[in-house]
Amino acid sequence: MKKVVKFGGSSLASAEQFKKVGDIIRSDKDRRYVIPSAPGKRDSSDRKVTDMLYHAYELAEADKDFSKALSEIKSRYQEIIDGLGLKTDLSGEFKEIKKRFAEKAGSDYAASRGEYLNGILLADYLGYEFVDAASVIFFREDGNYDAEKTNDILRGKLSGIDRAVIPGFYGAKPDGSVKTFSRGGSDITGSIVSRAVKADVYENWTDVSGFSVADPRIITNPEKIEMITYTELRELAYMGASVLHEDAIFPVRREGIPINIRNTNKPDDEGSWIVQSTGQKSRFVITGIAGKKGFCSVNIEKDKMNSEVGFGRKVLQAFEDNEISFEHMPSGIDTMTIIVHQDEFIEKEQRVVSEINRLTHPDSIDIESDLALIAVVGRGMKSSKGTSGRIFSALAHANVNVKMIDQGSSELNIIIGVKNEDFENAIRAIYNIFVLAQL
Ligand code: ASP
Repeated sequence: MKKVVKFGGSSLASAEQFKKVGDIIRSDKDRRYVIPSAPGKRDSSDRKVTDMLYHAYELAEADKDFSKALSEIKSRYQEIIDGLGLKTDLSGEFKEIKKRFAEKAGSDYAASRGEYLNGILLADYLGYEFVDAASVIFFREDGNYDAEKTNDILRGKLSGIDRAVIPGFYGAKPDGSVKTFSRGGSDITGSIVSRAVKADVYENWTDVSGFSVADPRIITNPEKIEMITYTELRELAYMGASVLHEDAIFPVRREGIPINIRNTNKPDDEGSWIVQSTGQKSRFVITGIAGKKGFCSVNIEKDKMNSEVGFGRKVLQAFEDNEISFEHMPSGIDTMTIIVHQDEFIEKEQRVVSEINRLTHPDSIDIESDLALIAVVGRGMKSSKGTSGRIFSALAHANVNVKMIDQGSSELNIIIGVKNEDFENAIRAIYNIFVLAQL
């Protein structure tokens, strides 16, 4: 068996956390390829090393003195080195970093040093080989990730190495300059390495025991999701459930490699499994609930809209011309509603409205702001009757007015629009009926 294991920032924030990680890796000889993040927060008032690096680099770019900011970062690593009793000396590395900062090597280079240095420490601590991500993960000139070049070179490189540490979050462009993924991108590196070595499983170790059915900030002690499909996760992540980087599923998805989300602080917990498909029924009809506030609906009415060819295209044209992407588009016979992100839309509102007027001559256009969207997601919904009925009766009992309903054709999700102020209440009502009532 071959396992790729990725550890997040909080799992590697201090010497004490490094020891837990070491124990986890040594307890299973299949855990052969390790992807570290940069040291994260040790407690809620702490700073992530990545943020410290961005800050230090901002100073460098503004020609201000950044030596103090850099030495604070050095102390974070030194504390780990001392706590583990390692002999690693990072002075040479910091000298080089200082020089590159002064040369203005770029904020991506700066941020990447967090995982780079943590990788050196972890490799030393484990006795694994260190492989610099800049030599095996590639981006194209335009900044997009180059999946095929990476896969070829990374696979070749790792086929000759039994155990390695590959820092997360960054790679290199064709000219050798460092480029990072977006924040939280070490999850993507873990997935890329899993694909390259054809891992049996990609373990993603963090500080929670997997996904919860609903946001713990809204539901106290929500039930855990034991198994979720990639598609269900996409729907939930898109709607704001965040444990794993949104793009991290793509490389493993191609190969059908399962992801296991685990808790470094509770290594015996089974965590959540993310799989391609499963015949295993979920514990509840729904797998998860997620949502976001801050949407607007643009409701357009026109008599006989249904028989006017090209009406929908013209409406969408007005949004496209103003570079606004739309989220949902529920419609009636003589009405059509476009749901958009409020912050993107608000400044262009009048331009869009006048263009819709000009292109379609509607009877009325009515805008409603401060809406929240809630996605109720579950593979189990396809085979069970009355799911939407139950959702709406729960919402009615909770005195929540439903503004919009959209059921995807996959029957995997139902999206409900409510006022922002009803958001938490609505989630509680849905959770209660599908989860609490079934326990
Ligand atoms: N250290 C980077 C961040 O804070 C990447 C990661 O942790 O995945 O975003």
